[in-house]
Amino acid sequence: MLSGTMKKSRKIVIKIGSNILSNEDGTINHDFIEQLCEQISFLIEKGKQIAIVTSGAMIAGISRTNKWSRKEDMNYKQALCAIGQVELMAAYSNHFSKHGIYIGQLLLTREDFYDEIRTLNIRNTLFTLVDEGIIPIINENDTVSVEQIKIGDNDTLSAYSASLWNADLLILLSDIDGVYDKNPKCYEDAKLLEKIEDIDSILKEIEIGECNTFGTGGIATKIEAAKIVNNYGIPMILANGKTENILMKLCNNETKATIFLGNEK
Ligand code: ADP
Repeated sequence: MLSGTMKKSRKIVIKIGSNILSNEDGTINHDFIEQLCEQISFLIEKGKQIAIVTSGAMIAGISRTNKWSRKEDMNYKQALCAIGQVELMAAYSNHFSKHGIYIGQLLLTREDFYDEIRTLNIRNTLFTLVDEGIIPIINENDTVSVEQIKIGDNDTLSAYSASLWNADLLILLSDIDGVYDKNPKCYEDAKLLEKIEDIDSILKEIEIGECNTFGTGGIATKIEAAKIVNNYGIPMILANGKTENILMKLCNNETKATIFLGNEK
């Protein structure tokens, strides 16, 4: 099932969660980014078109400055994101350039998806970058995103981006193998749900636990993201980015994950 979906999907949006981008001590996990870029460049060689939605700007900011990690004020959080965004893009740029691939940065807000002219512009930029072999890397524009206009989590942002780009597949990489009947971090006997077709009934059956230190949305926003893309007939896979070579393993059916199947395109 997983490999079949991977094979037939040409346009893929991959969302990278904060927890897999950071080490235990809160610094950026460069080995992970290096491996991820290697896997993505392999997928591109095989004819896939990829857009990335990446979290981790704040962690990268803390990692860079080594201060303000405990500040709760919005202006400091935004300042950390502004610093970290550059660091994060530099890391992606360095690792992708080893494979001869350039990246382009798109910083978006909720309003951008509600305005017809803006969505048209985003779509045109996405198509142009991808057609020219450049990987778009999308994140929320934290500098202008105060509460009222915030998307708030990159799961939703990645779902909006996948829909707007008419992607064939959305992959969310987090630090768990998929959706479980209860939080796998708290319960050893939690069971993985490998295939979800009816999201609403699943929501009644599972227990939604807390997310991690650096996570923003938790499992609830991941399920909401699936709902958004499934509505457009786009399937979504939630998989573990901490598993070595996870994208290759998804292609070869060598790993477990959760696939949300909407009415496929
Ligand atoms: P990311 O930073 O990758 O977006 P989050 O921390 O926001 O990740 O969300 C993933 C976390 O959600 C998991 O690490 C897990 O602890 C938690 N979680 C809570 N309930 C569940 C559940 N029913 N199934 C899977 N994960 C769950």
